[in-house]
Amino acid sequence: MSGSPWLGVVADDVTGATDIAGTLVGQGLRTVQTFGPPSGDVSACDCVVAALKTRNLPLAEAVVRSVETVRSLRSLGVEQVYFKYCSTFDSTDAGNIGPVADALQTELNGTISVVCPAAPAVGRTVYQGHLFVHGRLLSESPLRDHPLTPMTDPDLVRVLGRQTGAAVASIGYSTVERGPDAVAGELKELSARGVRYAVTDALTEQHLAVLGAAVRDHPLVTGASGLAKGLASVRSHRAGSAAAVSDPAILRAPAAVLAGSCSAATREQVERFATRSPTFALDPLALADGDDDVGHALHFATAHRSGPVLIHSTTSTDNVRRAQSALGVRRAAELVETAFGRIARGLVEQGVRRLVVAGGETAGAVVRALGVDGVRVGQEVDPGVPWTFTLGERPLALLLKSGNFGRPSLFDEAWEVLV
Ligand code: ADP
Repeated sequence: MSGSPWLGVVADDVTGATDIAGTLVGQGLRTVQTFGPPSGDVSACDCVVAALKTRNLPLAEAVVRSVETVRSLRSLGVEQVYFKYCSTFDSTDAGNIGPVADALQTELNGTISVVCPAAPAVGRTVYQGHLFVHGRLLSESPLRDHPLTPMTDPDLVRVLGRQTGAAVASIGYSTVERGPDAVAGELKELSARGVRYAVTDALTEQHLAVLGAAVRDHPLVTGASGLAKGLASVRSHRAGSAAAVSDPAILRAPAAVLAGSCSAATREQVERFATRSPTFALDPLALADGDDDVGHALHFATAHRSGPVLIHSTTSTDNVRRAQSALGVRRAAELVETAFGRIARGLVEQGVRRLVVAGGETAGAVVRALGVDGVRVGQEVDPGVPWTFTLGERPLALLLKSGNFGRPSLFDEAWEVLV
């Protein structure tokens, strides 16, 4: 394999990174995902996806990390930078999407950038600048109760406008329907008027293909994973771009699911798996009391080595609120994330080599605890949910899943794709 990457992605969380990496592989582009800025050998690929954990960091830190990552990506020769955030635009009025995008525009001497969170394959569409999740306005979807970034305003021009001093406008679907030249023309006009961000409507894959063609020469694009499909569709494709299991011993090794997401899809996956398979629940209040839940969870996993086990902190919105009001939002999250990191390390020491991790922040904590630098991206199990294989000796198979992604039976069935 040869060739240096043309696309560099800066993703604001770990499962968002695997989501876009899976999309790129699905489009026939060889993709390496790194955790943090790329370092070392990431040649012989078309795209490098740098997974950061900046979505919920203090703003200044998120900006510095993102800019340094773009510099590393550019030193690899990438022609285009893609700032990847969640298809539900997870952020607060303080950021971090707007301020990070501002800093990347400055770094890349960019002018106007598209803002394209649409991902119709997973039910995210944008119409008249408003974001819908499976046909419901964002503010009426389960995202309004997210533990860290509750989304209560569906109007993205307004949401982004609160996060940046720059002018934000929208490009409606009627322009998108007229094709790439119409979109490029409107982007030019908006840019001449001093607009720096254009929220683009997209209801279908065809709209994303139009947008991809319209922005193929932009130094910076921003969006969720859908736009990547559009961009990839105007580049060359090759067969067999998905990485495969390189060590067959992985397929015989013990397996576990770690779920730290409380999102609707994960709740359903946990409930379903728990009816038939060994399941251990973590509770932030017990962790705060100093209970050795990590030790208990590892003991439980050893006792059930024959099949995949599930260890989770997934619970109802009411229970999350209860824990957060007793401990504070940050501390509740930190306790749970730290516990999952320690559990992941313990499981790998026990010989586990196949891990499904649910939740973006949770996955970030797990890969950091495991000291994973990078992965080659394999086949998707569901849209945005690919298996990945850690670089280096004794690879692990990791499936890092955004909380709201995947079919209800994912925890039972993901293993079947690993052959
Ligand atoms: P998602 O992908 O669904 O957003 P994340 O892992 O990114 O999932 O975010 C969930 C956040 O909620 C994490 O910071 C996690 O530690 C925290 N969390 C998980 N379980 C609980 C719980 N039972 N109570 C309070 N916070 C929790």
